[in-house]
Amino acid sequence: MRSCGPCTICCHFFRVPETGKPENQWCGHCTDRGCAIHETRPQSCRNFECFWLMEENFPEDMRPDLCGIVVSFNDDKDSVVLHVDPDRPEALGEEAGEAWVEALLKSYRRLYIVCGEDRMMLDRDELLGNGASE
Ligand code: SF4
Ligand code: SF4
Repeated sequence: MRSCGPCTICCHFFRVPETGKPENQWCGHCTDRGCAIHETRPQSCRNFECFWLMEENFPEDMRPDLCGIVVSFNDDKDSVVLHVDPDRPEALGEEAGEAWVEALLKSYRRLYIVCGEDRMMLDRDELLGNGASE
């Protein structure tokens, strides 16, 4: 099974309701060796697994801390969310970012992109130009 390795970027991106840690701020428990309270980390941290972690076929250069993008499930099963590092807003246009978009559009109709305060949505049908919508 894959492990996060040196990646801790979701500990920066996401809010942790149990501790009050806000989005886009490093968690005080984050170290260069991972979570300092790994055994007792909050449930929301235990629950989270990004797409790269879940799917071993995604190559190393798509690892979130390397490519600047964390991919997670969305409540809407037909879509996923790409969280782009606000310090690397160009990440989506880089090779690994384009690889994420291409791979995800094969399985999901909509990609929601979040980068700091910016929001964007890519719709597969609109990108393919067939104008289909439901
Ligand atoms: S972004 Fe993914 S690989 Fe990185 S620490 Fe979080 S779950 Fe692990
Ligand atoms: S408690 Fe640990 S796993 Fe959760 S955000 Fe902080 S460093 Fe990451």
